[in-house]
Amino acid sequence: MKKIVVLGGGISGYGSAVLARKQGFDVFLSDAGTIAERYCRILQEWDIPYEQGSHTMERILSADEVIKSPGIPDKAPVVQALRERNIPIISEMEFAFRYKGRSRTICITGSNGKTTTTSLIYKILSDAGYDVGLGGNIGESFAYQVAVEPHDWYVLELSSFQLDGMFDFRADIALLMNITPDHLDRYDYCFDNYVASKMRITRNQSSRSVFIYSADDEVVAAQVERLSSNQRLMPFMAKCSVASGAGDACLIGEEFTARVAKRSLTIDTSKLKIQGLHNCYNAMAASLAALAAGVERSSIEQSLYSFSPVEHRLEPAGERDGVLWINDSKATNVDSVWYALQSMKRPTVWIAGGTDKGNDYTPLKEFARQKVKALVCMGLDNAKLEREFAGVVPVVESYASLDEALAAARRLAQSGDAVLLSPACASFDLFKNYEQRGRLFKQWVAENVLK
Ligand code: ADP
Repeated sequence: MKKIVVLGGGISGYGSAVLARKQGFDVFLSDAGTIAERYCRILQEWDIPYEQGSHTMERILSADEVIKSPGIPDKAPVVQALRERNIPIISEMEFAFRYKGRSRTICITGSNGKTTTTSLIYKILSDAGYDVGLGGNIGESFAYQVAVEPHDWYVLELSSFQLDGMFDFRADIALLMNITPDHLDRYDYCFDNYVASKMRITRNQSSRSVFIYSADDEVVAAQVERLSSNQRLMPFMAKCSVASGAGDACLIGEEFTARVAKRSLTIDTSKLKIQGLHNCYNAMAASLAALAAGVERSSIEQSLYSFSPVEHRLEPAGERDGVLWINDSKATNVDSVWYALQSMKRPTVWIAGGTDKGNDYTPLKEFARQKVKALVCMGLDNAKLEREFAGVVPVVESYASLDEALAAARRLAQSGDAVLLSPACASFDLFKNYEQRGRLFKQWVAENVLK
């Protein structure tokens, strides 16, 4: 019997293990850390042997195939040992794809905008009555759904790490939102490697597949020129103009039109609850995907207008005394903050800082000069931010706790202003993760400002 080893007991791991068991394979799951109680219970229910706290190499190296969680880097000794022995390593997506039957996939990748666009598409399809599952980086495990609650459609958010473990997988509808430097530590600090990884989203696509991409993104556009497959190309754009017979979406002023073959829809973006140029891109991409999936025009329009920001992504946290508080804790890189500042319509007290990932802040300075009246640095080491923005914004203050930083922001903001938490940095110095940072921000606002 084929031996499958699953590395990592998180959401992708337990789902893969259940699917492998259901398919009748000899399965073993190994996690060097701890496995959440709820996943242990499911593994026990399915009678799947597992270990946590260490890897039993002998058992792992006896595998015919390994399904690796995207969180485990290639540098990990266990992965190196498998590679030396040429044992195939695939991702959850690749494995689940083999058993998904006739169901179809809409797959979203990019450096920024994945979760928002994935959530948009999922909402549009669900509102339209499609039988649809949500998976990849968000929602339930794709493999688990294929095993126990199969759907006609899957909307999957894919990171580059997932794409790296995909070989025969084919996205029926693929979306590439943008490519900007991120996670380079996992790509030998080589941007080209990261780009190649993102482009794997188009792998195995045929003339019946659709590829939706940002024509404004120069890195993406250059890659599209070099595509040798014949999928239907559907660009979305606000700056350049490229028409495509298959379909395209274009923002002119505040309105965009998305068209697929002869069907089209028009959206007044000023009436959307998600604001900013980046969200226009997200909405255009989602419209093209939904039209390509056959959803009715009016249904797409209704779903788009009623979609609220995903938590921690330019999420309004309340308004009091004319000051609007906005939680953009998910903005952990410079590019996402660029779009956050771009979308600000009020003078802004900007809260940033945390664990700097080698950021180059230059692209933010123009918007900072125009829109930011004060920068509140919130982190254990704020020296770089202070240095970069001194003289760019009139006031720069520095604090080492959320309480102090938010009290300062409240003092600095006046009626008509916004306070924006958009850190450009990871959260690990003061917080567990970006979610905790965002929730504590909202809690502080609820208790100290709105009460
Ligand atoms: P991801 O899942 O790729 O991290 P999210 O939708 O969670 O993307 O958004 C992450 C951050 O990036 C948010 O701060 C958001 O404001 C910003 N953002 C969202 N969409 C885009 C986009 N299309 N281009 C650039 N930045 C974006």
